[in-house]
This record gives sequence, structure tokens and C-alpha cells, in this order.
Amino acid sequence: MEDSEGYLVEHTELCEALQLRGRILIADEGLNGTVSGRLDMTEAYMQALNTDPRTKGIQFKVDPAPGHAFPKLSIKRRNEVVTLDLGEDDFSPDETTGKHLSPVQWRNLMSEDDTILLDARNQYEWELGHFEGALLPPVENFRELPDWVRENRSRLEGKKIMTYCTGGIRCEKFSGFLLREGFSDVYQLDGGIVSYGKEAGVEGEGFSGKCYVFDERVAVEVNHTSGAKVVSLCQHCSGTSDRYVNCAWSRCNRQYFCCPTCDKDQRRFCSSVCAEAAILSLAAMGIGCD
Ligand SMILES: [Zn+2]
Ligand SMILES: [Zn+2]
Repeated sequence: MEDSEGYLVEHTELCEALQLRGRILIADEGLNGTVSGRLDMTEAYMQALNTDPRTKGIQFKVDPAPGHAFPKLSIKRRNEVVTLDLGEDDFSPDETTGKHLSPVQWRNLMSEDDTILLDARNQYEWELGHFEGALLPPVENFRELPDWVRENRSRLEGKKIMTYCTGGIRCEKFSGFLLREGFSDVYQLDGGIVSYGKEAGVEGEGFSGKCYVFDERVAVEVNHTSGAKVVSLCQHCSGTSDRYVNCAWSRCNRQYFCCPTCDKDQRRFCSSVCAEAAILSLAAMGIGCD
């Protein structure tokens, strides 16, 4: 992308004309994001990008949804689409990246010896679902992964490292980082979990729970085989639940798992601390007092 500033303006006009909503990041290295809109509009969007020499060949993943998956349209410019904050050690995933595996190749390699699956997403994402047996780094942000890798070298050494993320974008960078750290056998899942769940004949085999997505759907099904299961637990009663809700106390707003029964009983507060804080705050405003 030679003129990403100018492209931002242009791209915003295109999306507005097509009445799309969503979140898009634009950088010199390209663009990444998700949009929602009517079928004819999203088709026009894909065609526009595929006929533009700057974005020709861009990979699309299409999911049907009953309505818009975003409240509004947000398009921003960044220095990089994904960043590991490597400073002077930074590199381009165009030059260094792990070997791409198709969903079929991925499923076959998973069952081989000396392989290790490594989730490249954040904790709140893999808590909802992940590949069975994967290493799950407890990070809140992608930028924390390099430190985690350096602290856990021994768990990865001598293994075929299979990294994966939601749509395969973060892994372009992360798998390259692993190579530069001296690991030699590094693989990445092409198209990410989302594509893996859609591939005929694979149907998300080996994935437990659901895939976290950054729009109003929050969770999408991946494993369509009989092996699908829920891996997350309701924070209140510890029963299995993959229902993510936000704490009703506005200052907290934390996303947590909550089953329908506890949701009702606890009035959507994530903890008694938040429930009390909300009541005190209402009392301070003179609401709920006599
Ligand atoms: Zn519960
Ligand atoms: Zn809370």
C-alpha cells in the first residue's frame, strides 16, 4: 500500500457507499478487518477489492448472519496491521513466516509425534475454545507473546510448532518471530480457525469449544463433528457455559462466562463486589434510596 493515508479516505468512502459496518485496520503492509452488510453490498465490496490492483487476491472469509454484526463503521490507519512491539528487531512477515498448512494438512500433522500446538491468541479468546492439547499462553495482548516464548523455550524446543489464530493474520507475524528466535520447524494454519471450521472433510475436528470473534456474534461454531464440546465454565456456578456476557457494573464491564440461570440470579454482575459497587453508586445518585 503506497499511500495508506489516501487509501484510508478512499476506502471509507467505498464502505459508506455500500452501507457497510465493521472494523478495518489499514497499514502500509495491507489491510485487515471484518465488515457486515447486505449480501449484494458485501459482494460488491469483495468485487471492488478484487479488481483493485492494490488489494487483488485478498483472502475473504464469508459467514451468513441475521443482521449487522457491528454497531458502526470504524476504519483506522496503523503502522502495522499486527504488532509484536519488537522495536529494532522488527521484521516483515513477507520475508520471514512459518510454513502454511491447509486445514487438511493441519489436521494430519496434529496427530504426528513431536508436534506441539501453540495458540497465538489472547486468554479471553482461547478460554472460549481452542485446539485440544494446545499450549495456551496466558496473555492479554498479542505483544506479550515474545516474552512468553522466551520464558517457555524448553516447552517448544525440538518440536514441530503449529501456531494458529482466528483468521491466520496474527500467525503470519508470530510464526516469523518463532523462526527468528531459532525454532526451525514452524507451521501456521492458513486462514486460521475460521477457515478450519468450514473446510469440507475436516469440519473443525480437534477443536474444542467455540471461536472468539471480534464482532457482536462473539462466538462462532468451529467443530461440526460429533466431538464438539464446551470447554468454558460459568464463573458463578462452574457449570459448563460458553455464554460470554459483560458485567452489568459499568465501571467493570468485564467479559466473563455466565450461564442463563446465574445471569438472572446475579443480575449480570461478575462478582458481589461489582453488585455492591453498582448499588452504592445508585444510592449516591439518590436512586434506590427512600
Ligand atoms: Zn452459572
Ligand atoms: Zn464486574
